Amino acid sequence: MDKDIAQLIRKNILNLSPYSSAREEYTGKEGIFLDANENPFGRYNRYPDPYQSALKQRLSIIKNISSSQIFIGNGSDEVIDIAFRIFCEPNQDKALTFTPTYGMYEVSANINAIEFIKLSLNQDFQIERKTVTPYFSDPSLKLIFICSPNNPTGNLLNREDIEFVLQHFKGVVIVDEAYIDFCDEPSFLEKIEKYPNLIVSQTLSKAWGLAGIRLGIAYMNEKILSYYNKVKAPYNVSSINQETALETLRNIDAYEEKRNEILSEKNKLINELQISKPVHKIYPSDANFLLIEVDNANQLYNRLIEKQIIIRNRNSVVPNCVRITVGTREENLRLLNELKLINNG
Ligand SMILES: *Cc1c(COP(=O)(O)O)cnc(C)c1O
Repeated sequence: MDKDIAQLIRKNILNLSPYSSAREEYTGKEGIFLDANENPFGRYNRYPDPYQSALKQRLSIIKNISSSQIFIGNGSDEVIDIAFRIFCEPNQDKALTFTPTYGMYEVSANINAIEFIKLSLNQDFQIERKTVTPYFSDPSLKLIFICSPNNPTGNLLNREDIEFVLQHFKGVVIVDEAYIDFCDEPSFLEKIEKYPNLIVSQTLSKAWGLAGIRLGIAYMNEKILSYYNKVKAPYNVSSINQETALETLRNIDAYEEKRNEILSEKNKLINELQISKPVHKIYPSDANFLLIEVDNANQLYNRLIEKQIIIRNRNSVVPNCVRITVGTREENLRLLNELKLINNG
C-alpha cells in the first residue's frame, strides 16, 4: 500500500516556504540570546520551543512511538483545522464523517469552505460500509474523520470497519481518539507504520485532566508531519502549557488513580441511573460519559439547569437523548437526587 502523500497536498502548501523562527535556527539551550528581540528580563520572556521536544520525548516513551511521528497542537481543534488547510482546496474539495459525531469537524470544514458529507452510523452506531464505499472513488474527497470512542454516542467503532476505510480510501483518515484512555481497546497508533494515510488524534483534555491548557496531540508518519510543521504557527504551544503538560505526563500514578476513579464512578452511575424513572435506555459507553435516552430530553435538560446541574442536551442529534459526563461522587449524587425529585414532583 504505497500512497503518495505529496499528491494529496494542496499546491500552495507543497510549495510553501515556511517561516523560520530564531529558535529554530539555533537550537542550543546555553548562550546569550540576542536573536529574537525578546526582553532579557522576566520568567516567561523567552519564546517557547517551537517543536516541543521535551514534551514529545515524554509522549514517545508513554505511547511507545517515535518523537518524529508526533505533532502537538493548541487543542485537537488545531489538529483538525490544519488537516483542512494542508489537504483541502477551498470551494473544491470535500471531507466526510459518520454521524452523529463530534461537531467540530463540520465547523472546521465550513470555516475552510470545504463541502462536508455526513453519513449516518447504523442503529448500533457503527459504520455501514456500503454507504461509504461509493465515495472512495471521488478524487475531490480528501479527508475522512472517524471518532472512536465516538462522541456523543460513547461507543468504540468496529476496528475492522476503520481498517476497511484505511485500506480502500486514497485520502487521509483522521481517527479521533480523544477518549481512548478510558477504554481497553488498543489505539490505532500501532497502525501508523502500516497506513501512511492515517492520522491518530488524541488530547490531554479528557483522561489527562488538562482541558484548560489546550493541548492536542496527533500521531502520523514523518511525511505528513512535515506539512503539519510547515503550516502550524511557529510558537503554537506556550511555554506554560508545555511545562504543565510535561509535569502531568511525568506523574502516571496520579493520572491512573484519577482515571480509575472516574471509571468506577461511571459503573456506579450506570447502576443508579438504570433504576431512575426518567431513564429509558443507557447506551453502552467506552468513554467518560453516557448517552441516555429519557422521557423528554428538553424538559429534563431545562429542569436540571434550574438546579444548576448542566448536562448536554443531544435531542437534536439523537431524539430524546442527553449526554452526561461522569463527575465526582458528590456531583453524581446531586444529579441522581435531582432526577428522583423531578420524578416525584
Ligand atoms: C473533547 C473532544 C476532543 C478534545 O478537543 P481538544 O480541542 O483537544 O480539547 C476532541 N475530539 C472529540 C471527539 C472530543 O469529544
